Amino acid sequence: MTTNFGSRTSHGEAPSPARALDKLSRIPVLREKYLGHTAGGSAPDLFDLPTLGRDELGRAIDTLVRTDPSALTRASLHVMGGTRSTMRMGAVPADLYLDEIAPHVRPFEPGDLFTTLGTPFHMRACQDLHNGLAARAEVPTLSMDAPTDQMIDAYLELFERHGVNALGTTLDTFRSLLRYCAASGRDLGFLHKVLWSGPAMDAATRSLIRTYFPHLRTWSLFGSSETWIIGHSGPDCANDTLHPLPHQFTEIVDGRMLVTVVHEKAVVPLLRYETGVEAEWAACACGLPGPAVRTHSRIDAPMGPLSRVVSPLDLVPLALRLDSVEAAQVVLVDPHTEDERLHLRVRLRPETQPDLYTGEWIRQHVLSESLGLSEATEEAPESFEVIVSRHMLRERPDGTAPDFLVREGGRLQTPSISIHDQGSYDTFST
Ligand SMILES: [Zn+2]
Repeated sequence: MTTNFGSRTSHGEAPSPARALDKLSRIPVLREKYLGHTAGGSAPDLFDLPTLGRDELGRAIDTLVRTDPSALTRASLHVMGGTRSTMRMGAVPADLYLDEIAPHVRPFEPGDLFTTLGTPFHMRACQDLHNGLAARAEVPTLSMDAPTDQMIDAYLELFERHGVNALGTTLDTFRSLLRYCAASGRDLGFLHKVLWSGPAMDAATRSLIRTYFPHLRTWSLFGSSETWIIGHSGPDCANDTLHPLPHQFTEIVDGRMLVTVVHEKAVVPLLRYETGVEAEWAACACGLPGPAVRTHSRIDAPMGPLSRVVSPLDLVPLALRLDSVEAAQVVLVDPHTEDERLHLRVRLRPETQPDLYTGEWIRQHVLSESLGLSEATEEAPESFEVIVSRHMLRERPDGTAPDFLVREGGRLQTPSISIHDQGSYDTFST
């Protein structure tokens, strides 16, 4: 069944949100949001409910961890970023929905040797999920951390020598490996299969594979730390395309993908969660039955790779904690490009005399207070910069200015939908 109400489309029957609403309205920060929908006798319709944002979900999980850990039995929690005072966490059932995912994703065969490469702060649990899928296929696994550029050669030699033919990782790590090998003339002949969790296959990665490594077959598990895995694609699927998994329910509203997970295992059920992904329904060339979704942006980086780890608005209160800082503003420059950068613009109090080191000192303070930012910028320190200035951008006559701006191709823009509900974590946590 296809439901089509103007700009909202979905396939299949919408699940009843009643049980999920009951569970969610027991979480203090979400109680008010759902209050009007839990009162009264008749069961609410999913489509009447408001959408849920990334930061609302983060605050809900943070509250649960601190106030009601017993509600989190059988949960696996993962730090996704945030600050030292408020971590941003993902919560998934301890079995990672392996029973729901495994029947649809079958990359392994007997005789494979599978290596997973973990990446800090990025879907840490996907390494366990990849290993779980391999274990079901009776394939041995070797778990390692993703190599730095200096270590890629050593890793690849080790894999080849030991007969590794399948690799599980994140798309970013996979692409770094591909680029490195393409530039250094390595053909990756020993590697046959790659599995990653995160976004779907994109045209740039596909083109890299077709040009330099045409023997490689790829599988993607589509999802983020917030939604966990909600779709999948295989070697014959179209670019940017995924097949939604049956344990969740997808809607596309005004071109945005919303996800509902009311599965009984859900630690925090999702009701119309805003994935931040622009998408449309599509047909996929692979021939799998059922509708597919074509995405137009990445799921795990609504504003770009840096903001996957750092909620840009976290940085403003961190800077304002310093006595010398009067105003702060975050500017994300050229998101979703190789040149993506994060600028923290600060105005110092009049009595503060800036010297050569002021900007660097503020930068070090923010790096040490923010979880994940130093890792995210380790290989490219220039991607996070503190700019000391007497003026904020888009300053209003009263001296105030927006906390967050995006600059694309030299033009300043208002941030898009994915951060519309991002409040300050500090307001909540203090
Ligand atoms: Zn397909």
